[in-house]
Amino acid sequence: MDWHARRGWRKSSAMPTNADRLLLASIHDVSPRFESEVDRLVELLASAVGDRLAMLVVPNHWGDAPIVPGSPFASRLRRWADAGVEMFLHGYFHRDDTRHAGVDGLRARFMTAGEGEFLGLSQTAASSRIAEGRALVEDVVGRRIDGFVAPAWLYGEGALAALAECGIAIAEDHMRVWSPANGAELARGPVITWASRTRMRLASSLLAASALRRAPLRVLRVGVHPPDCRHPALVRSIEKTLRIAGRNRKTARYADLLPALAAA
Ligand SMILES: [Zn+2]
Repeated sequence: MDWHARRGWRKSSAMPTNADRLLLASIHDVSPRFESEVDRLVELLASAVGDRLAMLVVPNHWGDAPIVPGSPFASRLRRWADAGVEMFLHGYFHRDDTRHAGVDGLRARFMTAGEGEFLGLSQTAASSRIAEGRALVEDVVGRRIDGFVAPAWLYGEGALAALAECGIAIAEDHMRVWSPANGAELARGPVITWASRTRMRLASSLLAASALRRAPLRVLRVGVHPPDCRHPALVRSIEKTLRIAGRNRKTARYADLLPALAAA
């Protein structure tokens, strides 16, 4: 952890004013597989955040939904990027196809339904997937990616070591946003997200959202996933969360976290 960065974060978060408080929104699992869901989510977020949102792009979801340069979906990604949408690399295949031992195995199976692609990768494997995915997304959108987010927000040792060396500006997990290049923390606090795999998870994610959207965090993150738009209760919760969180927060981009840190 960079000492100055740490001090800067503390200083800026000690007495947050409304002007300091930020709202960041992201759409996970942007892939041709979920094109219609992504459209619905863009529409759902538009009234609250416009094009100030991040798309977490999966180059080849589960190995059978590749983003093909020159395809209509690739053109849409570029138009979104041209309009100001931030583009994050979100794994490569998304699915976790490594075998885990011990605690990591339990974590992978029970917490992610096998979607923690970067949990069990070696540094070499993580580096090459990041490099390949990044090259593809940058080619498609015509600019540098804004950051990297591991599927299910799960990073193994190899993934963290690979990230520290690849010069990507921003990464996040469930609890924080940081700069992989120097380890500086850019924001802290749980991301608001919804789950719909079981009725129990759905219910608990509604509860968590209703508590967290009023949390006095400097940076409030909201992350939505393709299946969210299939559940009316989740759609209502997302709308309400954005409405309430947006009342006294400035809608921002992840990149806005960087100059604030440099100035601190
Ligand atoms: Zn994902």
